[in-house]
Amino acid sequence: MLTKVIEQAKIDHFTKWFERADKIVIVSHVSPDGDAIGSSLGLYHFLDSQEKTVNVIVPNAFPDFLRWMPGSKDVLLYDRYKEFADKLIAEADVICCLDFNALKRIDDMADAVAASPARKIMIDHHLYPEEFCKITMSYPKISSTSELIFRLICRMGYFGDISKEGAECIYTGMMTDTGGFTYNSNNREIYYIISELLSKGIDKDEIYRKVYNTYSESRLRLMGYVLSNMTVYSDYNAALITLTKAEQSKFNYIKGDSEGFVNIPLTIKNVCFSCFLREDTEKPMIKISFRSVGTFPCNQLAAEFFNGGGHLNASGGEFFGTMEEAKAVFEKALEKYKPLLTAKS
Ligand code: 5GP
Repeated sequence: MLTKVIEQAKIDHFTKWFERADKIVIVSHVSPDGDAIGSSLGLYHFLDSQEKTVNVIVPNAFPDFLRWMPGSKDVLLYDRYKEFADKLIAEADVICCLDFNALKRIDDMADAVAASPARKIMIDHHLYPEEFCKITMSYPKISSTSELIFRLICRMGYFGDISKEGAECIYTGMMTDTGGFTYNSNNREIYYIISELLSKGIDKDEIYRKVYNTYSESRLRLMGYVLSNMTVYSDYNAALITLTKAEQSKFNYIKGDSEGFVNIPLTIKNVCFSCFLREDTEKPMIKISFRSVGTFPCNQLAAEFFNGGGHLNASGGEFFGTMEEAKAVFEKALEKYKPLLTAKS
């Protein structure tokens, strides 16, 4: 049995909207990851089975390794179909905001979502949710938004209506947001949910292979290159990897190719904090990814030094400047956080 994570009043409130709504739009964050797409499509399949008119809209493209997901072909990319997406957002009865906690996380879509008269619900697990939705289901202790979608559908009484396709999407989001159940994954209820998803006929081993073992040769060579240039800060239990635009073109980089790189330095003994600096291909900025193990709050460092945020063990931010400048800020942050980085846990 599952703990009742979501408050009953919120379930009842959303159920009322759900019963009355016809047009439902699901939106998720910029550079959508496995949980953004998994939770969106998990909810999409359920709502579709209830004869709702459902559209999933995300700000921009998502990685190739998520394109096998059932329903992914119908996900609308806002940067390509803005006019059509604006119309759907404006005319929606309900907008479900999944896997993000602040309007700025949906980039150019923010204005349209804010202006829409639709009822809005946030379903998310990031800290510090902003108040832009009438119903806010925000549970930072839950490791993925996809898990919340499963919990929501069950609490509404529709477990029986979760299809194999929907279960595959929910499982994918749960798996990717925990690094294949290697972090944030000690809650035993996760495994109860997995067993329920298996009862829908999903092949979890195949899903793992489809997500993690479908890379290109150039991606693997890029990984080798990036790691060979890694800097390890032994005195700080930290490591840094970087990727410039020039290096990206040398390896025929496509979006998603560096997914997961930031986790690799954490496999070095004693390294508890990893940073990945990558020159963005679309915007003139450096995208920052942080990962930590244990109690080191990489979200705090991201907020303080890189105008970012996220979770205790997975966070990010943005830097407007050169790679050298970003590296200098990172090293300054290491100095400030040295006591926490070197504290024995
Ligand atoms: P990733 O390294 O996978 O891009 O991001 C990890 C987590 O960090 C995301 O799930 C998100 O919570 C957070 N994050 C990434 N980039 C940003 C950012 O620019 N601003 C904020 N506030 N959070 C971010």
